[in-house]
Amino acid sequence: MPRDLDEALESLVRSIPDWPSPGVTFRDVTPLLADPEGLRLTVEGLASLGREIAGSDIDKVVGIEARGFIFGTPVAVALGAGFVPARKAGKLPAETFGVDYDLEYGSATIEIHRDAIEPGDRVLVVDDVLATGGTLAAVDELIERAGAKSAANVVVLEIGALGGRARLDPDRFGTLRTY
Ligand code: AMP
Repeated sequence: MPRDLDEALESLVRSIPDWPSPGVTFRDVTPLLADPEGLRLTVEGLASLGREIAGSDIDKVVGIEARGFIFGTPVAVALGAGFVPARKAGKLPAETFGVDYDLEYGSATIEIHRDAIEPGDRVLVVDDVLATGGTLAAVDELIERAGAKSAANVVVLEIGALGGRARLDPDRFGTLRTY
């Protein structure tokens, strides 16, 4: 059983070389999710980091498909906030806002429901990994499109060498661990 969050992140995140493509080291959080103490420590860590950066009056937690859904939902419960999924294009059934963003090869679109966030809401965005920062930057733009404010972006892991943090507001970004 991990003694603390640092030990949980050290021992329960698995690195898979050359997956899904050569040269990429995939940071696999499934062992962390499967460990009761690791899961609890991570959810508590994200919630307190979010509260530290955004303050206690958070209305909505936006989780990014797919692992941001897993971490974001219990964080929303812990903060007394609602949960909003940000999904890949074409998955949400009602009217959406969409933002296009660049991937390493090609581009993608991310969407939220138009009525999921009220103008003036204070929003916390949660994902598992920050890589190039394109996804989180696009989600921040979606929240602005809805007339609200992204009060904090928090992730479990940051891949520092990719410089994703530079695409975000450094005062609103937090991570539990940096590689
Ligand atoms: P990015 O937009 O480049 O910051 O990519 C972030 C998204 O891609 C997150 O939703 C991550 O789940 C996923 N991702 C990117 N790189 C990795 C990686 N090396 N290991 C695990 N997930 C990754």
